[in-house]
Amino acid sequence: MELGIARKKALVCASSKGLGFGCAQALAREGVDLIMNARTEETLERSAEALRAETGVNITTVAADVTSEKGRAAVLDAAGAVDILVTNAGGPPPGLWKDWSRDDFIAAFDANMLTPIALMQALMPGMMERGWGRVVNITSQSVKGPIPVLGLSNTARAGLTGFVAGTARQVASHGVIINNLLPGIHDTDRALSLDQGVMDAQGITMDEARAVRMAGIPAGRYGTAQEFGATCAFLCSQFAGFMVGQNIVLDGGALNATI
Ligand code: NAP
Repeated sequence: MELGIARKKALVCASSKGLGFGCAQALAREGVDLIMNARTEETLERSAEALRAETGVNITTVAADVTSEKGRAAVLDAAGAVDILVTNAGGPPPGLWKDWSRDDFIAAFDANMLTPIALMQALMPGMMERGWGRVVNITSQSVKGPIPVLGLSNTARAGLTGFVAGTARQVASHGVIINNLLPGIHDTDRALSLDQGVMDAQGITMDEARAVRMAGIPAGRYGTAQEFGATCAFLCSQFAGFMVGQNIVLDGGALNATI
């Protein structure tokens, strides 16, 4: 299926690895020019070079922390006017509800709620003026089914989801479409570090820890960044124009719900 977005321009945040890279790759394969971002320059350049070689699209890289005001300004400056925005950043650390301080919550809000909101506020006015735009926020399955050890994530991402629910309906008539993608467990570095947490907490091996986490996934495996990216590319396509403010779960069936 041709998605009809070749030669559009996309900012994909936190995209040197994992789910962000999956989204960048899928968009590049559709002929979309990219601004890619991550904090570590070397990994970012390597990933961008791989996509340039594979797809031939134009890619600008910005090595910066997108959750800091300075980093975000650098990313936005390099991006200029974009047609597509994919927001993403590292997730908050696991822990226990009674231990998190005000500062812990503020850090999670900054990274996983206020940063995507600031990016939308900066880039959507231009999209609205031009009459076309797509925004995909990478959130988490924890928005629909809370993950107890990831309370900081549950909280911050719920706030972003509320913002999107109202805002998506205010900008849709201008051709700007916002949706959220909610990953369950995908085979990335983030999943590996959470596997390690289970391994340490339960005193078991890595294989056993992965088996414990996989047991909760009806598909019987972790998701891949490529699958995730393909769904993201669809949400950024010409065909997603009537899909407004939705929360799409990609979790192999882990969330046990009828609707
Ligand atoms: P990952 O494999 O660890 O990749 C994270 C990517 O983001 C890397 O490219 C990293 O590069 C970049 N990054 C992290 N913090 C950044 C920042 N402050 N500014 C700019 N770039 C940053 O993680 P992932 O699995 O793709 O997860 C992506 C998001 O989905 C996270 O918020 C995570 O919590 C959420 N999620 C993941 C899963 C899963 O199973 N994988 C499930 C649910 C939710 P640098 O380190 O060089 O900056």
